[in-house]
Amino acid sequence: YEKELKRLSSLDLIGQMAAGISHEVRNPMTTVRGFLQLLLMENGYEKHRHYFEVMIEELDRVNSIITEFLSMGNTKTSDLQMLDLNTIIFDMAPLMEIDAVTQNKSIEVVTEDVPKLLLNHNEVRQLLINMYRNGLEAMDEGESLTIRTYTEADDVVLAVQDRGKGIRPEIMEKLGTPFFTTKDNGTGLGLGVCYAIAARHNAEIEIETGAEGTTFYIIFKIGQRFD
Ligand code: ADP
Ligand code: MG
Repeated sequence: YEKELKRLSSLDLIGQMAAGISHEVRNPMTTVRGFLQLLLMENGYEKHRHYFEVMIEELDRVNSIITEFLSMGNTKTSDLQMLDLNTIIFDMAPLMEIDAVTQNKSIEVVTEDVPKLLLNHNEVRQLLINMYRNGLEAMDEGESLTIRTYTEADDVVLAVQDRGKGIRPEIMEKLGTPFFTTKDNGTGLGLGVCYAIAARHNAEIEIETGAEGTTFYIIFKIGQRFD
């Protein structure tokens, strides 16, 4: 029991250090970014515009990696409320629509009435964004992705089904490992964040994949308790 307490407090310390480091890294980055933007507006730097743009992009990329990384380490289950999963999904419809259309793809939402669950609104939203973006990225133009909710026995299931090329078996065990990506400009943090969020909701993630595409199932327990 005592060992367990120690482990928790050192995890806590790691979390605090991560937050501290992120602060110490982000502030200087913000300064550098600001000066780069100022230089870009000065005469004489115009011919180097592209270099400046790349530098700013790279800073923004590091910044988003820090954000994603921190949200993975957070183990708090705060701000859970009894919410309707379908409402969260409907609220996201305009965002999903824009993401899909800009890639010449579409997203179909098929919901069943499901019981309310203890959810953190922002986290579930982030989980779904990471999942459907992966799905969209896996598909060819003209294809459609399906998001479903339904009840199954004692579970509420959120399923994200794409018609992409599937996930190769040798990659399956690496999914969710920080920085694992097969994409040229991927961060490899999306699924790690999803797994962390699912764990905080007592939910499990199952994956079905094949030549016809991939389905991620996020399985929430009905009547989940966090005491
Ligand atoms: P990223 O999207 O930045 O690569 P993720 O953690 O979201 O990072 O995903 C890690 C890897 O898992 C992806 O690079 C891809 O190889 C694989 N993957 C995730 N979702 C899917 C999917 N729906 N279809 C095919 N491959 C996927
Ligand atoms: Mg991703």
